[in-house]
Amino acid sequence: MQCPFCTSEDTRVIDSRPVEDGSAIRRRRECASCGNRFTTYERADIPLIVRKRDGRLEPFEIDKVRAGLRSALADRPVEGNRLERVLNQIRDEARARGRVVSSDNIGRAVLEHLARIDHVAYLRFASVYKEFEGTGDFEREMVELQRRDN
Ligand SMILES: [Zn+2]
Repeated sequence: MQCPFCTSEDTRVIDSRPVEDGSAIRRRRECASCGNRFTTYERADIPLIVRKRDGRLEPFEIDKVRAGLRSALADRPVEGNRLERVLNQIRDEARARGRVVSSDNIGRAVLEHLARIDHVAYLRFASVYKEFEGTGDFEREMVELQRRDN
């Protein structure tokens, strides 16, 4: 573990104890180069799980959300880093819901963001996500988008 003060790799653990009801380990470390002390925490990296419409569970993969957003936004004007910012927000929102999030919740979160970014991309994504069957579905979503803008 690198020292945050002088970046030396020569640090040692001087104390180690379980905290947070045993779900984490707190370690005090001391740097042999500069003598400063600092604290580290070790926790399990708990995966976020997605419940699909058919009930199956699978690991949350931000790459899948990115691919969906990319294809909805293909050829649409969008700032370079906006996509990544939106992806971070979608992941944070999903995490805030707990360990298991439904694919419907993720789809709705994507739609919420697309509604603010680009209406064409919104309609593209909605047509797949909501399984549009006819022009009536598009008209309903157009009305919905206009309502949001007012
Ligand atoms: Zn140091």
